[in-house]
Amino acid sequence: MDTIFDKIIAGEIPADIVYKDESVLAFRDINPQAPVHVLVIPLTRVERFSELKEQSGDQVGSFFKSVSKVAAELGLDEAGYRIVINNGSDGGQEVEYLHAHILGGRKMAWPPG
Ligand code: 5GP
Repeated sequence: MDTIFDKIIAGEIPADIVYKDESVLAFRDINPQAPVHVLVIPLTRVERFSELKEQSGDQVGSFFKSVSKVAAELGLDEAGYRIVINNGSDGGQEVEYLHAHILGGRKMAWPPG
């Protein structure tokens, strides 16, 4: 079953895309929790972070390298930012398509809720 993120990749629903390369797509979250709130997804569907153990180091490494690059392109390197990956029900994952949240532009609180 297609998720909302499959539909964004397919261009079936609009998104404010900030970055795309051969393996990831990054777009602004529709309900931002910080002045900068961008989601990074792999173009090949992975449902959850917990599935990454089945993937090659190159695939996993490439994903995280792209997340780091997107954050830099958003101008967040100097002030810092937070990466969040919710996994499964207790982790608060709502969309069953792996995504890294990049949150920045304000001081983050700890511990998370
Ligand atoms: P999760 O809770 O699964 O980690 O995060 C899902 C995120 O997707 C939420 O922050 C939510 O605001 C965002 N989201 C849900 N539907 C859409 C949509 O149609 N477009 C965009 N850009 N973001 C969405």
